[in-house]
Amino acid sequence: MNNEVALITGASRGIGKGIAIAMAREGWNVVINFRGAKKAAEETKAECLQAARQSGHQIEAVEVQADISCPTDRKRILESVRERFGRLDILINNAGIAPKERADLLEASEESFDLLMQVNVKGPYFLTQACAKWMQDQKKSDPTRSPKIVTISSISAYTASVNRGDYCMSKAALSMLTPLFASRLAEDGIGVFEIRPGVIATDMTAGVKEKYDHLIESGLTPMPRWGTPDDVARTVLAICKDSFPFSVGEVINVDGGFHLRRL
Ligand code: NAP
Repeated sequence: MNNEVALITGASRGIGKGIAIAMAREGWNVVINFRGAKKAAEETKAECLQAARQSGHQIEAVEVQADISCPTDRKRILESVRERFGRLDILINNAGIAPKERADLLEASEESFDLLMQVNVKGPYFLTQACAKWMQDQKKSDPTRSPKIVTISSISAYTASVNRGDYCMSKAALSMLTPLFASRLAEDGIGVFEIRPGVIATDMTAGVKEKYDHLIESGLTPMPRWGTPDDVARTVLAICKDSFPFSVGEVINVDGGFHLRRL
């Protein structure tokens, strides 16, 4: 039985849910963070337990309501994990939001910019800081441990969408998290990685489905299909299973080839 613990932020729905289920299936205990969707988080928990059972693992899954942009909520997440498990092996910085309304760069509001920066940048940055310090302590007391921090950014870290500049700015800033923490934590044996998803079918992209259907049909990506939460989850698993033992700070594109320049 694997008694390792993975904390996945924003795991009630979408990509985070896919990651939680995949990790549970492989025997990790999972901490399912969510902001407001309690029922969805409970469903994720049930699906995690079922996936683990079906693959012969006995795990624990817990939901923790917390807004990652709020300092006291972040503290509460870690207190819950300490109390329940006494350890943390994996942090997946997945929670993130898009602007409530897509607005032209020349009109978009400061309020939306601030909110996106708080949730998409400040939240993961300080949650990573707190988890990293705890991981350092755990590694000192048990050097066989192999902690990891994986951040889900986006192709928007380097792709200009003029109708959601705030989202692009936040993901570009988030992309600096991995080189920073990877450099700082490599000597402690803590692996830090970034995953850059492309167009993935979740609630976040449901409102622009037709637009992206059309773009994909017209050749947006060399692989002509939408990505799925499971595409991202399988990549996370490879990292968490130590498949990249002499790599640190790597960015892995999970985007059907969107990032390739073509002529
Ligand atoms: P989603 O379906 O909208 O789910 C977002 C998840 O994040 C939900 O579980 C939500 O919780 C949680 N969340 C939102 N704000 C939070 C907060 N302040 N504190 C804690 N949890 C919070 O989104 P998704 O498509 O799965 O996206 C997941 C991540 O991948 C995001 O960072 C997103 O930017 C990134 N991404 C997505 C795509 C895509 O095409 N979908 C592409 C590239 C990158 P509640 O359910 O409680 O609201």
